[in-house]
Amino acid sequence: MKIYKFGGASVKDASAVKNVTTIISRCKGRKIVVVSAMAKMTNTFEALAEAYYNGDTKIVAELFEEIKMFHRTLIKELMGQADAVPGFNGFIALLERRLKCGPSSHFDFEYDQIVPFGELLSTSIVAAYINKSGLLCEWVDGRDLIKTDDTYRDANVDWALTTQKINEKLTFEEADCYLVQGFIGGTENNKSTTLGREGSDYSAAIFGHVLDAKSVTIWKDVPGVLNADPRWYDEAVKIDELSYNEAIELSFYGAQVIHPKTLKPLQNKEIPLWVKSFLKPLEVGTVIHSRLGISQPIPVYIRKTNQIFVTISPRDFSFIMEEKLIEIISLFYHHRIKMNLMQNSALNFSACFDANRSTPELFDALKSQFVVRYNEAVELITIRQYTPEAIASMTTGRVILDSQVTRKVARFILQ
Ligand code: ADP
Ligand code: ASP
Ligand code: MG
Repeated sequence: MKIYKFGGASVKDASAVKNVTTIISRCKGRKIVVVSAMAKMTNTFEALAEAYYNGDTKIVAELFEEIKMFHRTLIKELMGQADAVPGFNGFIALLERRLKCGPSSHFDFEYDQIVPFGELLSTSIVAAYINKSGLLCEWVDGRDLIKTDDTYRDANVDWALTTQKINEKLTFEEADCYLVQGFIGGTENNKSTTLGREGSDYSAAIFGHVLDAKSVTIWKDVPGVLNADPRWYDEAVKIDELSYNEAIELSFYGAQVIHPKTLKPLQNKEIPLWVKSFLKPLEVGTVIHSRLGISQPIPVYIRKTNQIFVTISPRDFSFIMEEKLIEIISLFYHHRIKMNLMQNSALNFSACFDANRSTPELFDALKSQFVVRYNEAVELITIRQYTPEAIASMTTGRVILDSQVTRKVARFILQ
């Protein structure tokens, strides 16, 4: 049994959905197909959740209209008629009803009741088209399978319950293909949850782990894992194979091509992860596994933009010791801000993190006890397997605000 995962770019329009169907048709035997929201729809749904929460009814109406139009146009192109997709109108009606009720005071909860509609609409359309093409593929609701706690927007998987639900539901008795949403789950009380932005790679790994899949393939718009993001590095080259640990490090440091939580569930069962191009599906891609050949390590570059670099110093005469570190890190944790880099000296603690809606609240909390200085819109560059030339190519002519160099990894905060 195999798991295939298709992200937003692979289902961005009608011809993309047709291409996905061709790729699935080439995979014989049992499979689970995990699909995300279409194109950049999750960004639109995020804006919708934000407007709904802020009571901005005009924007809510505009975005809701945009979402309906986008999907209905696609349905017409794929199916020939507007109401040929089972479930679609029901999801639109549910979303509309939700948007008409007033929100609670818990933003993350409201977000998770709205944003999953991106995946629900997308999968209903893809399933309908696949079935129209003559392949049998059963649509399933991922919220009944991936069971989580109620940490909305970053839910933690309840592995025991998830295993039970998946094994109960995905029996392959009537179908050899199931189509399910990535990114979303449900609590025990059936409230929708999400696994964190870009989390559908992780969903694929959860299904792979629970069902002891032969392999998991995530289909991307790049030939595989490259040694840098080709959007900003012209000379990026493909890496043919990686160990699980190396891939975990790359994704953890921010190589966007794989969600960081994806690798562990696969590593634990030695299930290979393939990263392949949906644009050139017959090419080999990158494999991440434990049986590595001998390949020469090359420098790998990871760039994170729109970072905030903050330096925190105690207002009293104390040093940055264990007690202060606990206080500072607790505040980051409490505001759910993940540090991409941290560093401390006797008098200062510095950290770099993604700019985020709770940044002002974090700063207010810190300022009651610390002097807080920060730079906005900085870049964090990580170079693994660095060489002097690799460092020079990234930093020459740039203002370096801070750096951290270990035996294998060099990191720079650049203005
Ligand atoms: P999905 O369609 O699953 O959402 P993503 O857009 O999240 O896919 O990931 C694919 C993108 O990741 C590529 O388009 C590429 O720009 C970016 N990327 C960042 N780092 C790398 C890397 N090291 N190798 C390949 N792609 C990378
Ligand atoms: N649709 C979600 C997002 O854009 C999940 C994913 O694509 O992985 O974040
Ligand atoms: Mg994505």
